[in-house]
Amino acid sequence: MTGGSTLVNLLDFDLDGLAAWCEGLGEKRFRAVQLFRWIHQKGAADFAQMSDLAKSLRDKLSGAAELRGLQVISEQRSADGTVKWLFDVGGGNAVESVFIPEDDRGTLCISSQAGCAVGCRFCSTGHQGFSRNLTTGEIVAQLWFAEHRLRAAANSQERQIDNVVMMGMGEPLQNYAALVPALTIMLDDHGYGLSRRRVTVSTSGVVPMIDRLREDCPAALAVSLHAPDDALRDQLVPLNRKYPLAELLATCRRYLDAAPRDFITFEYCMLDGVNDAPEQAQELVRLVSGQSAASRGVGRVPCKLNLIPFNPFPASGLKRSPRERVIAFAKVLQDAGIVTTIRKTRGDDIAAACGQLAGEVQDRTNARERLARRRETIPIAVAGDAA
Ligand code: SAH
Ligand code: SF4
Repeated sequence: MTGGSTLVNLLDFDLDGLAAWCEGLGEKRFRAVQLFRWIHQKGAADFAQMSDLAKSLRDKLSGAAELRGLQVISEQRSADGTVKWLFDVGGGNAVESVFIPEDDRGTLCISSQAGCAVGCRFCSTGHQGFSRNLTTGEIVAQLWFAEHRLRAAANSQERQIDNVVMMGMGEPLQNYAALVPALTIMLDDHGYGLSRRRVTVSTSGVVPMIDRLREDCPAALAVSLHAPDDALRDQLVPLNRKYPLAELLATCRRYLDAAPRDFITFEYCMLDGVNDAPEQAQELVRLVSGQSAASRGVGRVPCKLNLIPFNPFPASGLKRSPRERVIAFAKVLQDAGIVTTIRKTRGDDIAAACGQLAGEVQDRTNARERLARRRETIPIAVAGDAA
């Protein structure tokens, strides 16, 4: 979608950035506010729609800027209401966003990178390798598109997305410069007006960037733990070799000083015979209570545990833990007083779960052909929930 355009993409700007850019056009800040609201609150896709802006300004805008969204490759709707979009980000790369409706709220899961450099064993994005960072505009475009698409489908002007989780493709804290303005737009009352508690950054543990996020934009934090000790975590999440558990937990404790919630969410992907034994649950209790070798110097980290059933893909060579084993693992944690949830699998029929980009992801050298194939056979799935 880059296409050599010289026009500025206004989706790249948070309100301060837009105000500075408007100033360059000789326009006052309140014009930037109007423009920002047209874009994000009303979902205007071109300047001609912006009826309360002077015609002369609209002409000036069309000559210098554009609203460059993402090209949709496919839209799939699950029997349970989950919607998955696959977006083309150019160069043979695609990213996904998933909307998960619940009784009391709607959650959108969005991507921060095409591919990911962290290379976790159990993640299909990790197996794909890293292609590139998304721009702020490309991160925000996922929300911009989904929110207004869902409003149109519901024939409503009401907010459809109350919750954003950065749990799609990519490691958000390895794309920090683009992430922070994107979060700012989501939180801005003139933008999406989302509560800080309802915008969650999920990270595999980029320690220095967690500290920066605490300073710059302390959204809710989810940390992908997946193992109770360094030896196993080194294997599953290679970044652990750089930032081991003691450092990660100490950073999580510090984050709580600024966090919008008084706990950290730890994600733990349940892998059959790898990290799901009751003894490992006990070790996990010791870890977050400040009683294990890795956490003795850190102390207790107030947290919630979110156990994620592994979504298998062939290249991983791993299997999902049996349900009883997940329940037994959860019980050890709950008996120790740790609030623990088991994530419901949603949208199984459209491969909408975490780390499942479009099913059969191979290596990214094939991405171009894969995209071409997919454009020809966009599957609209409706099978029942297989979970
Ligand atoms: N890079 C960030 C955010 C994207 S991954 C992170 O790792 O936190 C979002 C979540 O999906 C993470 O908790 C990740 O561990 C989990 N995940 C990745 N692949 C998965 C799979 N195949 N099955 C279940 N969860 C998976
Ligand atoms: Fe990257 Fe997160 Fe997947 Fe690990 S789990 S490879 S950090 S997207």
